[in-house]
Amino acid sequence: MNYESKKTCPFCAETILAAAKICPRCRQWISWRSFRNPVVGLIITLCVMFMAGGCVVFFFTHVFSRIFNPPPYYADHVGSLQILQSNMFFKDTTNGPRIYITGILTNQSQIAWHDIEFECRFVGTNGNLIDAYTSRSYSTIQANDDSAFRVTVAPIKDFQEYANMKLFISNARNVKSLY
Ligand SMILES: [Zn+2]
Repeated sequence: MNYESKKTCPFCAETILAAAKICPRCRQWISWRSFRNPVVGLIITLCVMFMAGGCVVFFFTHVFSRIFNPPPYYADHVGSLQILQSNMFFKDTTNGPRIYITGILTNQSQIAWHDIEFECRFVGTNGNLIDAYTSRSYSTIQANDDSAFRVTVAPIKDFQEYANMKLFISNARNVKSLY
């Protein structure tokens, strides 16, 4: 055995034998192969906590998505809500100019939807998109049923610049969602 081979304890800086597993002065475990080495123990503890934390986050994300936005998703039923007709009215109100869009919506699916998102695209007399608006309707449309709607828009241009309007349904949520 080579008694000259020495090293420094990383915990107390004492010069100790290179083969030592435990520092004879501070009693710390030096070997990296032992759980009793505090650095190894800390790394393992952090790994376990990180994995446990990940599991908790995954679980609650899953639970909350089931509560607040459960399937079936409208993304899988795009086109089941159709706009049967829509009209555009202009009116000056005490709060300023407004565009009112009224229409009838039909649901061609077996799923009742609510929280319906409308996307309005306004085409100007020059043929270009001159204004856009998204609106959300909190009313419910039952399976295979019709529903009337009204969207109110504060225009950014003068009334006479609006030539046409196109309306799209961009999203909806099924009525099992809680809010
Ligand atoms: Zn030591």
